[in-house]
Amino acid sequence: MTQDERTAELSANLEGVRGRIEAACRASDRDPDELTLVAVTKFFPAADVARLVGLGVTDVGESKEQEALPKVAELTTEVRQAVRVHFVGQLQTNKANRVARFADVVQSVDRDRLVTALDRGAELALEGELRHTPLDITLQVDLGEGEDQGRGGVLPADLPALVAQAADAEHLRLRGLMAVAPYGLDDEGTARAFDRLRELSDRVQGDHPEASWLSMGMSGDLELAIRSGATHLRVGTAILGSRPSPR
Ligand SMILES: *Cc1c(COP(=O)(O)O)cnc(C)c1O
Repeated sequence: MTQDERTAELSANLEGVRGRIEAACRASDRDPDELTLVAVTKFFPAADVARLVGLGVTDVGESKEQEALPKVAELTTEVRQAVRVHFVGQLQTNKANRVARFADVVQSVDRDRLVTALDRGAELALEGELRHTPLDITLQVDLGEGEDQGRGGVLPADLPALVAQAADAEHLRLRGLMAVAPYGLDDEGTARAFDRLRELSDRVQGDHPEASWLSMGMSGDLELAIRSGATHLRVGTAILGSRPSPR
């Protein structure tokens, strides 16, 4: 495939996704401008990130530190400055320093030790002038109801303590909540899970109005997420095409 063919393919996919977002917004009387589309570029090269930025994408998502770090480093200054990089994958505390250097947002914060590690990582990155603003984070919530449905995240019962810790972290900025829909649910079950996250988010915003991001919805369920109040969609396959291996 030539470079131009790939750009054309990404452009057509992006148009399709934007059409789905607009239709879903119309159906639930929402303004598409309230939504941020995060193109999840894991497994795809830096060249695709540059193509997407050329097509107007402002936010990309990555899920593996060892893949994301060199990929972000490969971006030209111009492309890097035009895009926010969201880290959306599981993160070990010993990788927190490195992620705090290249990510604008970490969406998958799910435990107290990771908050501590990212706060320290962001502090070091600020001191070293590798970043100039606090690190934006969202807390990932486990919406599973047992039976191994869960896709990672803090249990709702443990969320208030994590919110309090994250809100107090000096070098982090708590922006909201994130979740991946549990495995094996039909549309109704998925919608119920998204509504639960929305309720948790409303509660968090009571004390922390700045934590207004609600990151939910992927290629297969973005319409349901929009209906339940998502502000950030994380879309991989529907824009980039299928990945070489699942997840
Ligand atoms: C891969 C991934 C996505 C994108 O999933 P698609 O189904 O390809 O749209 C979204 N969120 C997270 C956390 C991911 O790991």
